[in-house]
Amino acid sequence: MDHLHDTQGRTLSLTGRTARQAADAYCVIETVLGPAFLAYNDRGISALLQAETSDLFEQVFQARFHRMAYRDSSPPAALLEAVRDCLAGRADPRQCLEFDLRGRSPFEEAVLRKTAEIPYGQVRPYSWIACEIGYPTAVRAVGSAVGRNPIPLLIPCHRVVRRDGRIGAYGLGGTAAKRRLLAAEGIDPDWLEHLARKGVRYIGDPREGIYCFPTCPHARTLPDERRLALGTDGEAAALGLQPCPTCRPAPRPFLMPSVRQAGAPRAD
Ligand SMILES: [Zn+2]
Repeated sequence: MDHLHDTQGRTLSLTGRTARQAADAYCVIETVLGPAFLAYNDRGISALLQAETSDLFEQVFQARFHRMAYRDSSPPAALLEAVRDCLAGRADPRQCLEFDLRGRSPFEEAVLRKTAEIPYGQVRPYSWIACEIGYPTAVRAVGSAVGRNPIPLLIPCHRVVRRDGRIGAYGLGGTAAKRRLLAAEGIDPDWLEHLARKGVRYIGDPREGIYCFPTCPHARTLPDERRLALGTDGEAAALGLQPCPTCRPAPRPFLMPSVRQAGAPRAD
């Protein structure tokens, strides 16, 4: 093959220097789930995938992104350090990494960039992302976009859980892998599932007059006597509690369906 097409349909030569420009570099990094292939280019990190061999990774990468990937014999030390820091929760990926999300629709990109905001050691439901990006009824479309995340771990889709609090599916190794990742961040997955079984979706703090998602640092540091288990935001409202400004457990008023923008994907 002498040519390939980029996402705009332009034909790119695969000979000489142009071939390198049309390709992404990759290297192998260590993660909680074992070795993974990290791909990147001038725009930022484009993929984080697991594969049994380099050849398989290159095949999967090309099939999925329509670009070549070549092994980088000297990956940038600053990039590797930033990735390690982000994976360990010492740095915020939004501040030290760039993501190349070409090929995603604007909706998918909004979902992924919002997912990247979920802090280390916390989880949010799919419905939170839908509300935060202004499409509160598009929860299933959010789930699909999260499921197609090309850069798991760094865009932490393992921190997105079902609306009822159950841990749910995960593309990079299933629910067991998701539980391992959450546990590595200090979230006990059994505790999350226990809350879900009891129907506890929020924790209220009557003294501060707010309610939180259970993994919000505010909720997690509350003494037992100040901790109110709540099943719905309606219960919280009936007690006069406001959404916590940090974890934002309710849709912001200006993003309610009545002002939903045109062109939103259907919540089918
Ligand atoms: Zn909170």
